[in-house]
Order: sequence, then structure tokens, then C-alpha cells
Amino acid sequence: MSITTQIIEQNETYGAHNYHPLPVVIEKAEGVWVHDVEGKKYMDCLAAYSAVNQGHCHPRLLKVLTDQAARCTLTSRAFHNDQLGPFCAELAAFCGKEAVLPMNTGAEAVETAIKLVRRWGYDVKGIGEDQAEIIVCDGNFHGRTTTIVGFSSEADYQRGFGPFTPGFKLVPYGDFEAFAAAITDNTCAFLVEPIQGEAGVVVPKEGYLRQVADLCKQKKVLLVADEIQSGFGRTGRKFACELEGVEPDVLIVGKAAAGGFYPVSAVLADRVLMDLFKPGDHGSTFGGNPLGAAVAREALKILTEEKLVERSAELGTYLMGKLQDIDSPHVDLVRGVGLWIGIVLKPSAGGARRFCEALMGEGLLCKETHENVIRIAPPLVITREEVDWALTRLERVLKMD
Ligand SMILES: *Cc1c(COP(=O)(O)O)cnc(C)c1O
Repeated sequence: MSITTQIIEQNETYGAHNYHPLPVVIEKAEGVWVHDVEGKKYMDCLAAYSAVNQGHCHPRLLKVLTDQAARCTLTSRAFHNDQLGPFCAELAAFCGKEAVLPMNTGAEAVETAIKLVRRWGYDVKGIGEDQAEIIVCDGNFHGRTTTIVGFSSEADYQRGFGPFTPGFKLVPYGDFEAFAAAITDNTCAFLVEPIQGEAGVVVPKEGYLRQVADLCKQKKVLLVADEIQSGFGRTGRKFACELEGVEPDVLIVGKAAAGGFYPVSAVLADRVLMDLFKPGDHGSTFGGNPLGAAVAREALKILTEEKLVERSAELGTYLMGKLQDIDSPHVDLVRGVGLWIGIVLKPSAGGARRFCEALMGEGLLCKETHENVIRIAPPLVITREEVDWALTRLERVLKMD
């Protein structure tokens, strides 16, 4: 039995079956490349759902991680640590917000934002007790906690997990009129992904976010942007909200915040809003720990110093153009922005899975998103030559029978 089969069987036998991975077992990684246990090399076109925008095993992150691990990993929030202050200051400056509340995973940061905007609804907007409503979108993905899956529109995410938290209202994504019609006096916030990643890189029509942001201001509704996947350069901007010149009231980040070395997420807002949290209102044992904070500080510096945002814009435009030029009988459309592209297949193509399996055979790791979308989101450190390498293989596979 090959070592690959052996490890996969072990995982099947002893692991929970809550994923359906491609049959590849990765043992090491570097930049845009990963190596499997058989010695085969692949290009990673998923980048851990954009958590490794800075590239796998970035040497600067490795150094900071090991140095900091040898110095101090965790204090407790009962004391200060020397990394947290600088981390908050640097992340706040990068994001253009006044204050940072650090957490660990994306879902936790979304939960934190929900608490923050609800409290604002009661304490500032004057909504009656337990009446606050948050508007969310069809096709949303904000994580997997019970509260969050409770307002998903995906049956698979919800089935058998109820009862769910009330106070959420679903509207169609990209439909400004529907959003406007859903606002009531009890609406405290609109929680939205500026571009929906897990839904298959769904880009709303131009002007949507701008219109939504303007109405939010007018109606006293907080705009909460979940940029956990779209942020940190993925779209060719620091944050996807910039594509429409929008400044959300609350910004949620995660994933690439620490370049794949460590789970670091955060909620950002201006001081007046963030100060609605008082000591004891919220917390996390690991949130803001010195190890995560040190790595995240370096991960931010890398984005800036290696000009990864600019690279994403430039190579994204190039890749998108080339993909749109491929004459394939299976492709319905290619959409996206920056190095974040969804190849939408026609129903006749027989699903995206078989294309992802064929791409794997060609040395390219992609993952189908829902039934019919191949998502292309490589680490942002990818070079033009590497993009061309991927294009040759994508073209071959998209033209197969
Ligand atoms: C991945 C993701 C989350 C959840 O992050 P976790 O770290 O997996 O909890 C939330 N929102 C968006 C948009 C995401 O892509």
C-alpha cells in the first residue's frame, strides 16, 4: 500500500468525515508550491482559502515564530504582553481603523462583531431589549458556529444543528432594493462579504456596496464587512471594500492575518464603537497572545514590503484575461478580482470535481467550490512565470472532454 493510501485510510478510520479532500497528502510546502509524501510537487491554487497569501512557510514568518516561541508564547490577558500593543497599532494603521479586538479564528471574530453591533443597537441606537436584527445575505459564509450557521442559506450547513439564534434576516446578495426593504427600526447592522468567497467568488454588480454603505449611514445601520477571505491583498486592494471606496463601520479580518502560521483574527472599529466593550464583556484565552501577535506583525510587513497587494492586482488582471481567452466547451464564465478567480462551469460539464482531479494530475491543486465553480486563489507571492505554468495546465484541463 502506498504511503498516501495508508495515511488517507488512517484519516478515514480515525478522523471525522466533515471534509472531502482530494487524495493528496502534503508533507512540506514553500511559496506557491507543496510537496506530497510521494515526492510529487504541486502548485497550491487555493492557498488555504487565502490564509497563506504571503506564501507557504515564509522564511521571515518562520524566524519570528521560532524567536517569539523561544521568548514568550502566552501570558494571559490579565497582564500585558510586549507584542499586543504594537500589533494593535500596526493592524489598526494598515486597516484605517482606530481600535482592534484580537481573536483567533474567523468565526470567533464574526461572533465578536455580532456582539459589538448588537450592543451598539441597544446602547446607542436605542433598540428595545432582545429586538436587534442583523441583515445578512443569501450565499453567505461567515464560519461554522451554531449562531453563524443559523443564518446560513445552505441547507447542508444547518441540517440537524438547530435550534438557532434568532435576530437575523436573509436578503438576496447584490440586490440593493431587497436590502433597503429589509431595514426596520430594529436593524442594527448589515453583515456582508464584499465579494462572496465560499459561494464561488461571487462579485456583486458595480455600485452595490457603495449604495448599501450610503443607505446604512442614512438609516443608522452599521456596515460590517467580513474580509476574512477577501482581505490582505486577495482582490488587488488591501481590502475589497476599497474597490468601491467604502469604509465599513466594522471590519473583520482573519486567515492571512498571520500568513498561515498561526490562527489570528480581529475585529476593527473606531474607538467610540469599540469602547462599548468594557472589561469582562468579552474575551479569549489565546486572543492577542504574543506568539500570534508577533507573527501577525511580520505578516503585515511582508504584505507591504513585498508589494503583494500590487502583485495581486497586476497578476490577477493578467491571469483573468488569459483565462477568459481559453476557448473551452465547459466554461460558462470566468469572474473575480485580483488573484481571486472563479471559473464557472456549464451544467453540461459534469461538475467541477472531475476538473479539480484532472488538475491535480497536472500538478495543480484547486478545489471545487459548490458543484460548478473552480476557485483559483494562489498565494500572492506567485510570479508571472508561475502563472504561465498554471495557465498551460488549466487550458489543457478545461479543453478535455
Ligand atoms: C473562512 C471564513 C470565515 C471563517 O473563518 P474560520 O477561521 O474558518 O473560522 C468567515 N468568513 C469568511 C468570509 C471566510 O472566508
